[in-house]
Amino acid sequence: MTEMFCFQCEQTAKGTGCTIGGVCGKKPEVAGKHDELTAALIGLARAAEGKKHDKNSDELVMQGLFTTVTNVNFDPARLDELKKMVESMKVKLGGAKDFDPATLFHGDTDVVSLRSTLLFGLRGMAAYAWHAHVLGKDNPEVTEWLYKGLRAIGQEHSVDEWLSLIMESGQMNLKCMALLDEANTSTYGHPVPTKVSMKVAKGPFIVITGHDLLDLKELLEQTKGKGINIYTHGEMLPAHGYPELKKYPQLKGNYGTAWQNQQKEFNDLPAPILYTTNCLMPPKSTYSDNIFTTSVVGYPGLKHISEKDGKKDFSPIIKKAIELGGWKQDKQFTGINGGTEMTTGFARNTVMGVADTVISAVKSGAIKHFFLVGGCDGAKPGRNYYTDFVKKTPADTVILTLACGKYRFNDLNIGEIGGIPRLLDMGQCNDAYAAIEVAIALADAFKCSVNELPLTLVLSWYEQKAVIILLTLLSLGIKNIYLGPTLPAFISPNVLKVLVDKFNIKPISTPEADLKAILG
Ligand code: SF4
Repeated sequence: MTEMFCFQCEQTAKGTGCTIGGVCGKKPEVAGKHDELTAALIGLARAAEGKKHDKNSDELVMQGLFTTVTNVNFDPARLDELKKMVESMKVKLGGAKDFDPATLFHGDTDVVSLRSTLLFGLRGMAAYAWHAHVLGKDNPEVTEWLYKGLRAIGQEHSVDEWLSLIMESGQMNLKCMALLDEANTSTYGHPVPTKVSMKVAKGPFIVITGHDLLDLKELLEQTKGKGINIYTHGEMLPAHGYPELKKYPQLKGNYGTAWQNQQKEFNDLPAPILYTTNCLMPPKSTYSDNIFTTSVVGYPGLKHISEKDGKKDFSPIIKKAIELGGWKQDKQFTGINGGTEMTTGFARNTVMGVADTVISAVKSGAIKHFFLVGGCDGAKPGRNYYTDFVKKTPADTVILTLACGKYRFNDLNIGEIGGIPRLLDMGQCNDAYAAIEVAIALADAFKCSVNELPLTLVLSWYEQKAVIILLTLLSLGIKNIYLGPTLPAFISPNVLKVLVDKFNIKPISTPEADLKAILG
């Protein structure tokens, strides 16, 4: 019997859908509450149509969508609370007809596919909009689109109308990522190339994971002079490149590899861990007492730090760090390939700053090809493809990377070309914006289109932020993207045909075969 249905992420059961429990640990009760929350948000968006809605309503829309992203919130009580707030906001805005959550993933296969693509993309975009919002940056056009997109999910459309809504959401996400780029760089400065150690110093420390740089900044402020070191984890790694974050001496390095290894890497950790966003896996009892969540993240039984009067009090985490005490000796850790150091901070400004050198290297033939190898990591064994792909790329090629998929290869030393490292970490998944800007600048310099550049995108996807980034790339007309490790379950054969015919999206095969097809 089907107890739930969810097929929004790459690890969905049997490649078709989770029906008796989520591979991510989501229980049917929580899956049902995610659907009910989504339906309530559609109701709110309907109620808000043509009306002035305030900041509280906008925040509920952003948080509500973000909450349903994979590995974010597993807490039924928090989901109920959020749904109640959404419903009362709907009433405040004059009310509207409810959307039936049971219809979200039912009906004609292609319509379900198109509706789901739009919904999952909206969830990803809301996460980016939220990160910009907490830094005081909003773009009314982006916020309005979240309402419009939600209303569109609750309506009937022709296939062409769905496709046009999906492309519109991709375009809107470019504006959303530009907003977040502006929010991050105006708050923390432009990232600069920074070597990040994988050694953990003896004594008390805190691990912070997720994407929220503001939470990191507040934690750094609150641990000033307390003899507690801070280590990033997962998607927090690029924080080391930002001048206004790297200036804190207690921001020492990065602990752990990609998110899917957390149950092993956090098991005997003598330190608390703060989750600021996804990706939270159900914690084992051996370390659950050391975990703290904040913002939209939730899991039953874990300690949650809420914002009060615009501030978060991280003192319970600081107390826990002192109580656990850290290790007695320094400990050297490695990446998955045995490397002990990573470099990050090759964001937009840095790469643009060496544009002349890069352009000359391309013209002289020293650089033959660029690859963007990026996206999310995940647990499937097939993801070794990305490690092998990078290892096999010829010495006259440059690899741009972003998001957590880079943990597959970011401890490798693959050399330099004329002083430019061959592996350039541009940042978190949202820094896809920077990669797009660089590609556009290169295309301008060579007076060609992005599709005519010696550039190939080899992407790995896992959750819904990757979905919206992919839609952004497609909405920009970018073709010939290699996508893996598997294609999304929510893309029906007919919708896939449209994507292949229009954009020549290809599933990854083997590194050897794909490199041969790309480079000849
Ligand atoms: Fe399954 Fe992914 Fe949905 Fe979790 S988020 S229930 S793993 S499809």
